Amino acid sequence: MSGDFADRIRSSGKRLTAQRELILRAVETLGHATPDEILAEVRTHASAVNASTIYRNLEVLEELGLVRHTHLSDRAPTYHSVGGHEHFHLVCRGCHKVTSVDPAVMGPVVERLRAEQGFVPDLGHLAMFGHCVDCEAGQNRQQ
Ligand SMILES: [Zn+2]
Ligand SMILES: [Zn+2]
Repeated sequence: MSGDFADRIRSSGKRLTAQRELILRAVETLGHATPDEILAEVRTHASAVNASTIYRNLEVLEELGLVRHTHLSDRAPTYHSVGGHEHFHLVCRGCHKVTSVDPAVMGPVVERLRAEQGFVPDLGHLAMFGHCVDCEAGQNRQQ
């Protein structure tokens, strides 16, 4: 855990409990993970933890700005740490590969949305669906 995180939690008045720290570490280890995957990872360290504890603490960690969530499927949200670089997500419908992309790629789009729609998109929450090059090639072969 970096000092930055510890400071942020202290200044929020919320406590970084041992459980929250375990959950945060699990998110950082897994990269992108659903609450179930996070539960499985946390259980390797603390077997008594249950799913509702995971959900509740993920919400607290998100309020603290330590994790974000996005929707990479129509099932549970997927959580990721904000410890790495800010990014948005490309999700392949063929192989389900998730690619993290630098938000600067969306710079011109963000500028136009701000100017023309008066809207600032939340790119960290964004997941764009499509097909990776490999899967697109496979699709074309099938046609
Ligand atoms: Zn992410
Ligand atoms: Zn693919």
